Amino acid sequence: MHKNIITCDNCNKDIKMILRTRRNEADVMVTYFKCNHCDNEYFCYAINEESRNLRNVSEGLV
Ligand SMILES: [Zn+2]
Repeated sequence: MHKNIITCDNCNKDIKMILRTRRNEADVMVTYFKCNHCDNEYFCYAINEESRNLRNVSEGLV
């Protein structure tokens, strides 16, 4: 099993990957983790499921 530890590109220290989620300016949920040494952020993926759902709902209503 792999441990979720990677090396930070910025400071070359080990980062324990603790995934966080937040909503960005485009209202897209992004999952990221942060280097706890230098605060460099690494983005994993973005989810715009919510906006897709909203579009589906509005299509269903029309
Ligand atoms: Zn770092």
